Amino acid sequence: MSTNGHVTTERATGLTAPPVSLTAPSGIDREAHHRLDEAWLAAAWSHPTTRVFVVSGGQALIDDTPDGRTELVMTPAFEAPVTETHRYFLGTDENGVRYFALQKDTLPGRMDQSARPAGLREAGLLLSPRDAGLLVHAVALENWQRLHRFCSRCGERTVIAAAGHVRRCQACGAEHYPRTDPAVIMLVTDEDDRVLLGRQVHWPEGRFSTLAGFVEPGESIEQSVRREAWEEAGVTIGEVDYIASQPWPFPSSLMLGFTARATSSEITVDGEELHEARWFSREDLRAAFESGEVLPPFGISIAARLIELWYGEPLPRPGSPA
Ligand SMILES: [Zn+2]
Repeated sequence: MSTNGHVTTERATGLTAPPVSLTAPSGIDREAHHRLDEAWLAAAWSHPTTRVFVVSGGQALIDDTPDGRTELVMTPAFEAPVTETHRYFLGTDENGVRYFALQKDTLPGRMDQSARPAGLREAGLLLSPRDAGLLVHAVALENWQRLHRFCSRCGERTVIAAAGHVRRCQACGAEHYPRTDPAVIMLVTDEDDRVLLGRQVHWPEGRFSTLAGFVEPGESIEQSVRREAWEEAGVTIGEVDYIASQPWPFPSSLMLGFTARATSSEITVDGEELHEARWFSREDLRAAFESGEVLPPFGISIAARLIELWYGEPLPRPGSPA
């Protein structure tokens, strides 16, 4: 039941939905060793096969192709809007095509009617693993760049370096690297193989999902799984198994997905993060979906894949007929 990029399981072989698209191999080699080589980057930028897209506020332009796929809108570098300072080198695909993202304050206007701005939550489900991987890389860098314009050591302004992967302080010389905040997300089951799903306080009525929370300083991820289950739902956890991870740059998380076996079943929600939590058998959950009492989690999230792993078949999609 463990994985190599995709969340897969023998029980779930009937899944027709794509695997966690932000987790699937993208086919992109990030080629980090070129990031400090300005001459190489300049040559890569001006190469005719190089492709560029603009990222702005977590969004990029996407477009539908005549054969029914959805792609990032990318142009050759000479057609891209000029920018000197916010150019991210994202990597090279198996055909030798190099990809850059430009961070701009606004997305460029488009003549084509079908091109539209989209964030990861929408585009991640529609794009190919390559394009989804490029977009999640660019959005993660953009979020970090926007929030780290000042040096955390001396307070002076920092400047972009290393093709978007470093910020350097010109006052004290400190180099700052993109940060990723680990968060755990866990499919908790009990000895009767029921699943524990919770509703966060700010979620609409009926929206249930797996428990999740941030890893704290000085804590292992296994400890974090146990602490979060205890704090949020009052449930104690025994065995914890890693399943898969998912970049979740909202703004800078990495979701680490686990299965966790409960050793107690009485629920006490904390009322601060979780408003409500319930144990569901598969039959309970199917009936709750069918009646509309429970809304399935959003398709892009690893939470949906973890629940499917246990459920044994694709969950109904939000908005799709039950
Ligand atoms: Zn500094």
